[in-house]
Amino acid sequence: MGDPGNESAVLGGASGLDADAAAALLATARAAAAHAYVPYSGFPVGAAVLTDDGTVVTGCNVENASYGLTCCAERVAAFAAAAAGHRAFRAVAVAAPKALGTTPCGACRQVLNEFVPPDGDVVVLLEGTAGPEATTLATLLPRSFGPTDLDRAAGT
Ligand SMILES: [Zn+2]
Repeated sequence: MGDPGNESAVLGGASGLDADAAAALLATARAAAAHAYVPYSGFPVGAAVLTDDGTVVTGCNVENASYGLTCCAERVAAFAAAAAGHRAFRAVAVAAPKALGTTPCGACRQVLNEFVPPDGDVVVLLEGTAGPEATTLATLLPRSFGPTDLDRAAGT
């Protein structure tokens, strides 16, 4: 991650993302972070999901006085996209303006894994300490458990 060669290997291909589109999606995630409701942690995060039909759906983290009910920006965006009818994500951009290099937490990686497109992977765009970084969900969540495991159990 982080070096230009790796980033160009991640972008393009099935993702359909070039560097300009990746930068735009990251900017959208950064803008979404401005709406974060983080009175307890002071750790704003924004996320922008790019669906397989090109729709962009944003989210921010939303905390709660009952801390365990807090939801991350990535899951807010993923659930909003799903609620709007989207079932495959090409990319997700994550921006944590106060903590460059932030990656999705384990719970969000698992939720995103539910919406991997059948023909590829979800590109994950991050704001690294040295600039934009592009990686993949498969890199962040190796040997994942997902819908196909349930299909195997059902013998389908
Ligand atoms: Zn999370």
